[in-house]
Amino acid sequence: MAENNAVGPFDVLIVGGGPVGMTLAIALAKFLPGIKLGLLDRRALTVPKDLRASAISAGVRHLFEAIDVWPGMAKEANPVARMQITDSGTGDIARPVLLDFGGPEAPGQPIAHMVPNTASAAALIAAAKDRIEILDPGTVAQFSTGPAEAQVVLEDGRQIAARLVIAADGGQSTLRGLAGIRTFTRDYRQAGLVTTIRHFQPHNDIAYEHFLPGGPFASLPLRGNYSSLVWAERADTAKALLAMSSEGLAGRIEAAMGSVLGAVEIVETVQSFPLRLVLAHKFVAPRLALVGDAAHVIHPLAGQGLNLGLRDVAVLAEVLVEAVRLGEDFGGLGVLERYETRRRGDTALMALATDGLNRLFSNDLRPLRAMRDLGLSVVDRLDPLKQAFVTHSAGTTGAKLLKGLAP
Ligand SMILES: Cc1cc2nc3c(=O)[nH]c(=O)nc-3n(C[C@H](O)[C@H](O)[C@H](O)COP(=O)(O)OP(=O)(O)OC[C@H]3O[C@@H](n4cnc5c(N)ncnc54)[C@H](O)[C@@H]3O)c2cc1C
Repeated sequence: MAENNAVGPFDVLIVGGGPVGMTLAIALAKFLPGIKLGLLDRRALTVPKDLRASAISAGVRHLFEAIDVWPGMAKEANPVARMQITDSGTGDIARPVLLDFGGPEAPGQPIAHMVPNTASAAALIAAAKDRIEILDPGTVAQFSTGPAEAQVVLEDGRQIAARLVIAADGGQSTLRGLAGIRTFTRDYRQAGLVTTIRHFQPHNDIAYEHFLPGGPFASLPLRGNYSSLVWAERADTAKALLAMSSEGLAGRIEAAMGSVLGAVEIVETVQSFPLRLVLAHKFVAPRLALVGDAAHVIHPLAGQGLNLGLRDVAVLAEVLVEAVRLGEDFGGLGVLERYETRRRGDTALMALATDGLNRLFSNDLRPLRAMRDLGLSVVDRLDPLKQAFVTHSAGTTGAKLLKGLAP
């Protein structure tokens, strides 16, 4: 390798400038200002054409507040005051509400905020460009480790040394594969259709989730009379829906929603994402930690994938700050395993819950429907159980940053 191909060395190299990698980079720059930090992505850091909006839970909002990026997102955020869940058969017009959740933190506080992905990307990119060394775009091709540092080689021949490499390179993580970390994968044979609709009736800051036979269908309140739709459907049905005219599809959406928001109009191109479950067997290896979708991809029915990845960020930042404070080798396996131990439970629980709900609800079998509806209505009447669900999805436990406190 020619000498002039060497970049760094870095204390921490983050590979992946998606929302998870960027948030971690900004948090480490703020709370570990003495370390040399690099951020690499295969593409330039510009706001992607991503029409999705994400439900940002209370804990993640606290993390964003702590690293000073929330004001940039708040301008476009819309609160989710309540979530109502129905279980519906094909062609049902009436949609009895089986489960109704309110705010988790304090009376009157929202469950979450809907933030357009372009707004969160813009706020994160602005903060990252100010505070972090962003490398020229490049794709990781090789990864190896020595006793004191790891080496990353890019396709263009650049060679980067770092004491710790963070894989934030998404669900198909190259680094995860290069480190030999295996995954558990389940293809849901569903596609997630995403778009934005305008509707005639106000949403009143309510998110609706309808469990339909083909998969869950959620409308999530944006600013004004707009909502973000995430519609999981069997892959073949999704393909047919994508081929429909905008008016025809709007009619299908109205039918799927049971007309709760009145007539709808599609105002954005419909995007389609294949849905699958991916769980890495290990979240860490010597000098490597996996965060976000690189560690786990879950079904979007609970709107928790990004929140889960940002909870990884909060815990990993806390573990690394503590290791530096104690003078430990923060890229060593002993330190990294503390991160893995603290993230396993939450991840496994969320993966199991979303996987189980999708399988339980994505069918029209009458006896199963009667049983699950009874289950949901029991949960609706048991306040402590309901509160436990709500508190878990608020995600304010597990790390100081999720409460808005410095690590
Ligand atoms: C339909 C749908 C709806 C969703 N809705 C929600 C929601 O409401 N709430 C929620 O919390 N979550 C939601 N999610 C999940 C959420 O979108 C993901 O969890 C989140 O985007 C993961 O972020 P990430 O930064 O880990 O990965 P990504 O966003 O995938 O970013 C990975 C980055 O790594 C870069 N990269 C990849 N490979 C390499 C390489 N070899 N070298 C260099 N760079 C590389 C890529 O260019 C990219 O910038 C949804 C998902 C889907 C499919």
